[in-house]
Amino acid sequence: MAMQSENVLTTLNKHGYKAYWVGGCVRDELLERVVDDMDITTSASPEQVMELFDDCIPTGLQHGTVTVRSGGYYFEVTTFRTESEYQDNRRPAAVQFVQDIKEDLQRRDFTMNALAMDVTGTIVDPFGGQADIKEERVRCVGSAMERFGEDALRMLRCVRFASVFDFKIAHNTWKGLVRQKDLLQHIAMERVRTEMVKMMSGPHPLRGLELLYRSDSLAHIKAPVSSTRFNKMLLSNLEQLSGQHVLLRWSLILIAGGYSKDEADVLLRQWTFSNEHRSRITGVLQVEQLIHTSVQEPKDTVSLRSDWIVTVLACGVQAADDWLRIQSALPAEWRNQSEPAEMQVVLVQELAAEWSQSIPVHDLKELDITGEQVLQMVQRKGGPWLGQLMKHLLRETAIGTIANQHEALSAEVKRVVQDDQT
Ligand code: ATP
Ligand code: MG
Repeated sequence: MAMQSENVLTTLNKHGYKAYWVGGCVRDELLERVVDDMDITTSASPEQVMELFDDCIPTGLQHGTVTVRSGGYYFEVTTFRTESEYQDNRRPAAVQFVQDIKEDLQRRDFTMNALAMDVTGTIVDPFGGQADIKEERVRCVGSAMERFGEDALRMLRCVRFASVFDFKIAHNTWKGLVRQKDLLQHIAMERVRTEMVKMMSGPHPLRGLELLYRSDSLAHIKAPVSSTRFNKMLLSNLEQLSGQHVLLRWSLILIAGGYSKDEADVLLRQWTFSNEHRSRITGVLQVEQLIHTSVQEPKDTVSLRSDWIVTVLACGVQAADDWLRIQSALPAEWRNQSEPAEMQVVLVQELAAEWSQSIPVHDLKELDITGEQVLQMVQRKGGPWLGQLMKHLLRETAIGTIANQHEALSAEVKRVVQDDQT
């Protein structure tokens, strides 16, 4: 990708235009992080860029952006520009093209993002971004009060960078953030989610949550942990889940925040999570809820096992597996083991994988008897009783009290129907 983008720079240079790699890709290169998009900025106007490259798409002409395809990769090439007239603390209403790279860098949010590099490797750094990177500091370009006032999303980006890179936040930048935090409520939830997902995917998710907590911003972004529910001990476990899928981390945050499945569902909708992601997260909460209910009474292993299997049938194999993954990533102190209920959860956790392995059927379709066969056997009209009966058969077969064989299942049907009639 570096080579292909270099070709774009060289082509622009050859025609007398200035051109640089800019922003996040230069920063990530200096941080020795994987670079996944290489943005380019140039003195050429969008029209001039389009003249030079056959394969390009005018993705955002009003903002000066043309997407150029080079050697199978796509690069955003944006004309040097300044921004003005910010609306509703969001994106600028107007942009103005300029000729000087420094003016372009001035509109960028943080010093570490206000870096440009030309094809020879020379870095343009008018705001001390390299020094801030070295000193591991997020600092606004110019006045933090103003920059956060122009675009409130920058506050979340600030926290996200501090969290993902484990950087500190410069004093004035932090002060500006604390003063402007109320503007966070104007950001579209979709953009909040994008930032939060990046934050939670990083190696220090707790750092970000703590910064939001300390700046008293959690409520402004409808964060799953409100200031009153911010339980650092529980949340510290998030970092144990660093290697796991980010959706598992969301599940843990919601469990730690005391969310029920339904409450979580409402919140994740507000947060514009996709249906697929939402149901994966709420599935884990449902498992947590069912297990919690199951262990309220003292039980023997046999009953705990059947409760677990019923839980797997109700919530699905994926949710059960996710729940177990979360549990096994957590330190033993996570559950207060002086409480009998919690001790039972620990027991479930230890044996659940084995129990799950032993489940012979997960779905009605796998049963060696169909609803129609049941109807024929008992000579009754269908109705809700049939669904209940089939579920009963599935449950008993899954637990292993009945074999998944037509004869055994028919015998059980007869027994249940006879019981019903007496
Ligand atoms: P990442 O790609 O890792 O999320 P990034 O800094 O590259 O981080 P992008 O959204 O790719 O973020 O933006 C590219 C560059 O555009 C940034 O490095 C920064 O210079 C500038 N930029 C992005 N968003 C803003 C903003 N809200 N305000 C000012 N400058 C911004
Ligand atoms: Mg980027």
